[in-house]
Amino acid sequence: MDTINWADLSFGYMKTDFNVRSYYKDGKWSEPQVDTSEFLNIHMAATCLHYGQEAFEGLKAFKGKDGKIRIFRMRENALRLQSSCRGIMMAELPVELFEEMVLLVVKKNERFVPPYESGASLYIRPLLIGTSAQVGVKPASEYTFLIFVTPVGPYFKEGFKPTPMVILREYDRAAPLGTGTFKVGGNYAASLTAGEKAHKLGYSAVLYLDAKEKKYLDECGPANFFGIKNNTYVTPESTSILPSITNKSLMQLAEDMGMKVERRRIPEEELSTFEEAGACGTAAVISPILRIDDLAENRSYHFSKDGKAGPISEKLYKKLRAIQYGDEPDIHGWVTIVE
Ligand SMILES: *Cc1c(COP(=O)(O)O)cnc(C)c1O
Repeated sequence: MDTINWADLSFGYMKTDFNVRSYYKDGKWSEPQVDTSEFLNIHMAATCLHYGQEAFEGLKAFKGKDGKIRIFRMRENALRLQSSCRGIMMAELPVELFEEMVLLVVKKNERFVPPYESGASLYIRPLLIGTSAQVGVKPASEYTFLIFVTPVGPYFKEGFKPTPMVILREYDRAAPLGTGTFKVGGNYAASLTAGEKAHKLGYSAVLYLDAKEKKYLDECGPANFFGIKNNTYVTPESTSILPSITNKSLMQLAEDMGMKVERRRIPEEELSTFEEAGACGTAAVISPILRIDDLAENRSYHFSKDGKAGPISEKLYKKLRAIQYGDEPDIHGWVTIVE
């Protein structure tokens, strides 16, 4: 058994021992199967390859000081996958089967769950694809659901530091009544050009505006946006945003901390009124935003004077991490302990 250098982990892929799979055929999902192969043998005419019938999820497992492994809000991921399935006409996976397979794949790969002290975690990647051979454009009749896991390092190796983001008005991620609310690969393919351009220009991510009017904030590539002002947590309401489970959790924690929470349309100009701003998602929990540049309009919005994250973002970040690692009580029932 090879040893893993937990301190050197990044957000990359590392082979683990097992993955789990279930196959949908004749209207039924199979019993979970444990596999050691990293490969899939699929038909060249599978609908996932040609017509994008593919949805995925992302969640994490954490090892606590007590040595117990905790999985964060997996039921929410199961429900969101079902929503994605309805969105692109794939067979829905039962919530119970999703949860059973998450627990199974984590247990089978227990040796890859990073120790508490490392600040690292086990990333869990569920994937559902249409596999039956078809040339005509219609939904597949057969599907494969699989979950693999891979250990990932702490997101903030150099501390919880804000980064600059950019508005690129020449790109959209998702159409107002399109697939933006579903976690499907197609949305990611559609965002690659803008994302690469942002990185080349020195930004960590793109902040998208609504595709129709280019007036309101949408989301930050693979993460939701939030702003803080007057003891209020504000996050955009839109028909093209992916409902982030991290954002949902932060809204609850903000409320627990005595803050007001608003989910509504946010005009771009309102950025100038926020005391703090951040992007949120499973990978980083919160990525604090240093500055947002709207290049075409030649405008900039600043959220940090000293290059440090704001106090409320930091408090929310620490609180959520503490619940995930079991350092603080799980009063909302968000955590499943792997037994
Ligand atoms: C997955 C994802 C998020 C973050 O969701 P979490 O459930 O918090 O991880 C945000 N935006 C998009 C587009 C996503 O795909």
